[in-house]
Amino acid sequence: MTVTEIDELVKRILRGEVRLHEVEKHVKDSNVATRVRRRAIEEISHLDLSPLDDNVVDFNDVVGRNCENTIGCVKVPMGIAGPLKVRGDHASGEYLIPLATTEGALVASVNRGASAITESGGAVVKVLDDKITRAPVFKTPSLEKAVEFIEWVEDNFGKIKEVFESTTRHGRLLRIRPYVVGRTVFLRFEASSGDAMGMNMIVKATDEVSRFIHENLPWVENVSLSGNLCTDKKAAAINWVLGRGKSVIAEAVVSRETVEKKLKTTPDRIVEVVLRKLYLGSGRAGVLGGFNAHVANVIAALFLATGQDLAQVVDSSHCITYCEELDDGDLYISITLPTLEVGTVGGGTSLPTQRKALEIIGVAGGGEPPGTNALKFAEIVAATVLAGELSLLSALAAHHLADAHMRLGRKK
Ligand code: NAP
Repeated sequence: MTVTEIDELVKRILRGEVRLHEVEKHVKDSNVATRVRRRAIEEISHLDLSPLDDNVVDFNDVVGRNCENTIGCVKVPMGIAGPLKVRGDHASGEYLIPLATTEGALVASVNRGASAITESGGAVVKVLDDKITRAPVFKTPSLEKAVEFIEWVEDNFGKIKEVFESTTRHGRLLRIRPYVVGRTVFLRFEASSGDAMGMNMIVKATDEVSRFIHENLPWVENVSLSGNLCTDKKAAAINWVLGRGKSVIAEAVVSRETVEKKLKTTPDRIVEVVLRKLYLGSGRAGVLGGFNAHVANVIAALFLATGQDLAQVVDSSHCITYCEELDDGDLYISITLPTLEVGTVGGGTSLPTQRKALEIIGVAGGGEPPGTNALKFAEIVAATVLAGELSLLSALAAHHLADAHMRLGRKK
């Protein structure tokens, strides 16, 4: 496309003859379309938008997969924490952790926690459960029919599983949990999704199952493919209790010496902060899933760096952080994440910088066998969360929090 043709297309957008989402009808290359749209927005907003320019992302890969109406890229700084020693069933060794953030002190804090954990022998991590969920909502004629429907679902699980799995190579239907409210029925589908976080996968599969249900029970009406009992991207007790994505626990024993020398406090001071802040404070505030110091900080920075679905920071940050002073004076610390929704394929994980971040950790792409890479990643994420919790709790116990933020987040 010539410069004159681009200028003409920008003018047509400004005159309202071409809408922003129609640019690709006139320009085949989405990189050029992105520049055209940015030029139009520059004219409309009277702003110089050149900082949004990007020569790493190929918008031909992005459009149709990750974003529409593209005008460029937001750039977020990425730092590195670690090495962090992880002793999981899938992750075993020392890992470097890329974190994308604009909050000064976060990377330094996770780095300090990683150092203390690694020095103390590493974090032991276990994935206790692994399932993505989607819960369509159905309308039936009456309560009696609602019960008849859920009995039919139970009796026909084998056939439903066949229909579900006909739509995907990696998704496997594990179970269906029914919930009834009056004559309304929710079916919470639980499925393993290989190395993908699995939301598109399970939506495609439950759509097919909903059609199968309607063919067999025409009086059952699918009101919505998502009925909010899934529950995706909202703080919800159902996820807190039953889990969603990976349910992961990480623990470490940090020697008293490391707590005193590296973290500048004592195990009993940390335990007191946990008790009064994480349990009394969060309890009094009525926080759902938030018995922790700053898990959302670490989850958000890791999700941003590695191309996870950012809105799932809401549920993935649900966590109980727990500490004890052991009889020998060392510190026991654990974090429990019931709802960690992560993947190493699909979604934003194939974008160039996000893929590099996954490569730094050593978990890019599909695992062999499928699913093992996402499990390894989940274990490393949990260990990183543990590092973040240990460091912030120590800073609070030592009264260093304000100092660190002024030093690392307020450069004049
Ligand atoms: P996806 O990119 O839509 O699908 C993953 C793809 O990777 C599938 O085609 C799958 O094939 C394939 N695949 C190849 N190797 C795989 C392996 N080793 N393990 C698993 N899959 C493998 O990703 P998704 O995880 O299903 O969905 C994530 C996306 O959904 C994100 O972009 C997220 O923002 C979005 N999202 C959607 C909804 C929704 O309601 N639809 C809600 C929240 C988020 P097979 O399917 O044939 O196995």
